Amino acid sequence: MVSRVIPVDPFDLIIFGSTGDLALRKILPALFRRFCAGQWPKDVQIIGAARAAYDRGAFHEIVAESLRRHAPYQCNDAKMLASFLQRVDYVPLDAQSDEGWAQLAAKLTTDRVRAFYFSVGPRLFGPLAEQIHAHNLATQQTRIVVEKPFGHDLESARSLNATLAAHFNEGQIYRIDHYLGKETVQNLMAVRFGNMLFEPLWNSQYVDHIQITVAESVGIDGREEYYDRAGAMRDMMQNHLMQLLCLIAMEPPAKFDPDAVRDEKLKVIRALDPVEPHHIVRGQFEGDGPGYREVVGNPRSKTESYVALKAHLSNWRWAGTPFYLRTGKRLVARSSVINVMFKDAPHSIFGADAGRHANVLSIRLQPNEGITLKVTIKEPGQGGMRLVDVPLDMSFAEALGSENQDPPDAYERLVMDVIRGNQTLFMRGDEVEAAWAWTDPIIAGWQARGDVPKPYDSGSTGPGDAELLMKRDGRRWQGINP
Ligand code: NAP
Repeated sequence: MVSRVIPVDPFDLIIFGSTGDLALRKILPALFRRFCAGQWPKDVQIIGAARAAYDRGAFHEIVAESLRRHAPYQCNDAKMLASFLQRVDYVPLDAQSDEGWAQLAAKLTTDRVRAFYFSVGPRLFGPLAEQIHAHNLATQQTRIVVEKPFGHDLESARSLNATLAAHFNEGQIYRIDHYLGKETVQNLMAVRFGNMLFEPLWNSQYVDHIQITVAESVGIDGREEYYDRAGAMRDMMQNHLMQLLCLIAMEPPAKFDPDAVRDEKLKVIRALDPVEPHHIVRGQFEGDGPGYREVVGNPRSKTESYVALKAHLSNWRWAGTPFYLRTGKRLVARSSVINVMFKDAPHSIFGADAGRHANVLSIRLQPNEGITLKVTIKEPGQGGMRLVDVPLDMSFAEALGSENQDPPDAYERLVMDVIRGNQTLFMRGDEVEAAWAWTDPIIAGWQARGDVPKPYDSGSTGPGDAELLMKRDGRRWQGINP
């Protein structure tokens, strides 16, 4: 099946921080792939901006090199690459001074969607919003895209929301969480709300517990300073894992529209109980090369590179069903997966020897995006009635057979949603604040107690205490499989 491309109207996209890692590795390759897929009309304009004094030609060289590396399949077509670059321009500009802004203003087109992508460090989000306003660049059709991290705590998130709100209305602000752009995450909603099969079972009566794992094999190279101030709780749990939890736990929205979906997600965050200190495990990697403290150059650092916790939702649907969430760096594999662990059948008619097996619905975000349902059948060829689990597997690369066999990257979907004006997969200001309101007391508790993270081996599944967190409840984590 070849996916349908819905063309968008002409637009101007301005990428602040266009020479940085995110722009070159993700945003520009995503735009190029959409261009190759035929999603844009001819007169689109992409304007890169950063302080470096490149001219258009020099910027083209940088972009072309990055596309060859990050969109190699599409770069085989030299004409396509040249045609894409014709639409790419560059302006040297400083977010913190007036330098370059008049030059940018002169390049912009009137009467079309104008999207400003803030792919710069978070301390520049506010100044950029102010400069856009001060130079009169905001039109009715203007949108801003704000990267993570959105604040460092509730107070800073509120303050950033207030700065943005002074110049833009909520309908113009796109707070990005690239996890929401992943094909599987959207499929999670399609599976839940497009089928009759799952929703009747999607509650504490039938679901024993839910596991959400976002494991990374990489460390924090290149982000040491930021990471040591943030830690896994702020960097991953408050945003990505929280968003996944929301999509799993929310009530069916009346419509798949931005406010209906985000209202339901907000209710989930607000229904979260405070987490008991003994329901959280923090860890710091060590061994096999430099340990966390060496990497960040802070021998006394108490920042966690791993966190696992048990969360409860106080609402009708989920009372009594725990959600176990974990995320960490330098783990055994890169693997993001949500496992919905159904309860055992109430009684085994096949006797104790046949074995008892509970259904598991696994939603894999990366790698190998797809959804698997583990069901129990009779073990083939055996005498008597022995039961085994077999997976009903839906791999998206196979099922949807895109031309290069990869599902679209999250940024492809999200950038096009910005142009189309669809905010469904972006976080609303009140959601972000509610997530910080839940996270802040947890972090404050660690600080008050002087909590020190438990060491864990690089290349392992995390600290042993995280296994105990499950074991105490008579449960265990599903494996972290690549
Ligand atoms: P980066 O590699 O450090 O790039 C920063 C960019 O901002 C550069 O182009 C830099 O160019 C520009 N810049 C810095 N100061 C500026 C100023 N005063 N005025 C205008 N431009 C300025 O950072 P990054 O990794 O791309 O990250 C960008 C944002 O995305 C951050 O908020 C980050 O948290 C977020 N993010 C990144 C990733 C990732 O994988 N990299 C993932 C998720 C979120 P000049 O120095 O030439 O000005």
